[in-house]
Amino acid sequence: MAEKICVAVRVRPSISEESPSGTFWKIEDNRISLHKLHGTPISGLSYAFDHVFDESCSNSKVYELLTKDVIHAAVDGFNGTAFAYGQTSSGKTYTMNGSLNDPGIIHRAVNDVFQKIQMISDREFLIRVSYMEIYNEEINDLFAVENQKLPIHESLERGIFVAGLREEIVNNAEQVIKLLESGEVNRHFGETNMNARSSRSHTIFRMVIESKGIDTGSGDYSSSDAIRVSILNLVDLAGSERIAKTGAGGVRLKEGKYINKSLMVLGNVINKLSNGAKQRAHIPYRDSKLTRILQTALGGNAKTSIICTVAPEEVHVEETKGTLQFASRAKRITNCAQVNEILTDAALLKRQQLEIEDLRRKLQGSRSEVLEQEILKLRNDMLKYELEREKLEMELEEERRSHKEREQRIRDQQLKIENLSSLVSDGDRSSSQDSMKESPKDECNDFKTPCFKETSNNAFVAKRSNYSELPDFSPLPDSFSNVADEDTWFKMNKGYIADLDSLQTTPARKVQSFPPQDITPDCSNDNYKLELQNLKTQLELVIKEKVELQRKHEEEVQINSRLMGEICELKQELDLSNNSSESSKQRYGNLETEFQKLKEERDSLLQTVSESSKNITFLTDQKENILKDLNCEVQRRKDLEVEIKQFSVAFASRQRSLASIHGEFKSKIEKLRAENLVRY
Ligand code: ADP
Ligand code: MG
Repeated sequence: MAEKICVAVRVRPSISEESPSGTFWKIEDNRISLHKLHGTPISGLSYAFDHVFDESCSNSKVYELLTKDVIHAAVDGFNGTAFAYGQTSSGKTYTMNGSLNDPGIIHRAVNDVFQKIQMISDREFLIRVSYMEIYNEEINDLFAVENQKLPIHESLERGIFVAGLREEIVNNAEQVIKLLESGEVNRHFGETNMNARSSRSHTIFRMVIESKGIDTGSGDYSSSDAIRVSILNLVDLAGSERIAKTGAGGVRLKEGKYINKSLMVLGNVINKLSNGAKQRAHIPYRDSKLTRILQTALGGNAKTSIICTVAPEEVHVEETKGTLQFASRAKRITNCAQVNEILTDAALLKRQQLEIEDLRRKLQGSRSEVLEQEILKLRNDMLKYELEREKLEMELEEERRSHKEREQRIRDQQLKIENLSSLVSDGDRSSSQDSMKESPKDECNDFKTPCFKETSNNAFVAKRSNYSELPDFSPLPDSFSNVADEDTWFKMNKGYIADLDSLQTTPARKVQSFPPQDITPDCSNDNYKLELQNLKTQLELVIKEKVELQRKHEEEVQINSRLMGEICELKQELDLSNNSSESSKQRYGNLETEFQKLKEERDSLLQTVSESSKNITFLTDQKENILKDLNCEVQRRKDLEVEIKQFSVAFASRQRSLASIHGEFKSKIEKLRAENLVRY
């Protein structure tokens, strides 16, 4: 069912101290109008939208009234997109990212999606997110700094997609918020003037929501139900102000031109879509990366809301008018959203189904958090592998393409050489026959543009309209920056469609040109010889070029086969690493048991050691006691020895005194005997 894009305007709080001197914007319900200072509205400058939010309105209210439905529909399988459009500093980033106290649409959407899917018990969900920036018409991956200048591809299965963009599978809102923070860090990385960059770049946060009914009866995950796939884009656009304001030359001008290009093409797309069926035949989605990526969101299969942010200050009144005019155009667009149900391998849920079932079986009986963790890990590993393969295929494709181009160039050169050779031999013939006077005009024409018409029709000038058949976008000529001035910008706000098709572009291809005299040849004999000389020199040059090209071609063939080899090796490595992860798991198990044993042994050794040390202490104590006893004994012996000595001395002196007494006695006895003898 066709439905209109939902458009709202949000006026940010004023940051100027000055009170208005001439006009001010008045908000009444869903209408915003420019009024003269003392009341009367200015005619033609009153606009009505689905919602008009004044400066006191919170992000929470904006989300509830404008975006919530789109987010809920995305969970149910409808594509959804929410844009923030407006001049720099009007509040786009505030609306999308919010502040600490009042989170923006992105945070609210992420939380809401996870809350909602938790309440749906009969479906299994798989959610992946990516975050990209379009800066200077180049797509950079904000989740992986190394992924720069990514190409847009289109396939029957996947539709339009950014090839090589990192996607992360996520289980809860916190994971997404963390990823977004890291994305912001990547964006700031190496940036000296972040404000200048953010006002010139578009960021797209994307969630892909896949879901499939669970056969609750049998708990069987392999039921082949259709899978719903919806893409949700949350887009913070570059500042929509006039280039004249962003000013200055050098890099800034170049950036300005690209900004202008992206937003101009967005403006063109919106203007054409809003013009109704009559002009809808060709919508120039392919003219910019932004419109190409968001093609389904604009006039296609998506529910879309646009929030146009404006600044209330008087100095910005012209920009605000421009934004409101843009918003009015957008309001006329109708989309036709439907639930996307698919049965093919385009759904990641389907592609990963077998491996996940396998893992579930293996981990049967594990705790549910463990199971969830393992599944998330496996899913992300598989997705990374797919992305890696996609990148390699891209490189290979690129290689094949340049190879073909080179071959074509060699063929062109060969044709040229042949043509030149035949011209030279014709010339030789005609000069030997001296038939220059006959039909000089035809001959001269041949020299003017020899055979280029047949060989490479597109080599010089291509009409822009041819480019609409090219895959990505049409390169704009340098002169385009001159037409993209503020007049055009304002005309576009009023619905004017810049006529890109009327422009001629000249691809930067260097073609060897003939000297100027070739163009208006004088058919005299001398000149003719000169021509011949020139042609021969040209021929030599071309032959040299051909040899060089052939050499390069051979080199490329070698590189090509090396790349193929590398791809094979990578695939083998992947297989090997899968195997080795299995065996390392086993080794890990073995090591763990060994470790356990060793731990036990160590514990018993520790026990023994502590007992031994107790014994040692005991023995040491004993030894000390014995030593003490021994010392006492020694001392006692010494004392005894001293005593013995003293005794011996005393004994000897006693002996001596006894001996002397004995002597005395003996002599007394002798004396007595003698006396007795005398008496008797
Ligand atoms: P843009 O992304 O459009 O360049 P910003 O979102 O960075 O603009 O807003 C510019 C400034 O105005 C910031 O400091 C922001 O915090 C503030 N601002 C914008 N809108 C609001 C709002 N509705 N309420 C409070 N502050 C706001
Ligand atoms: Mg911003």
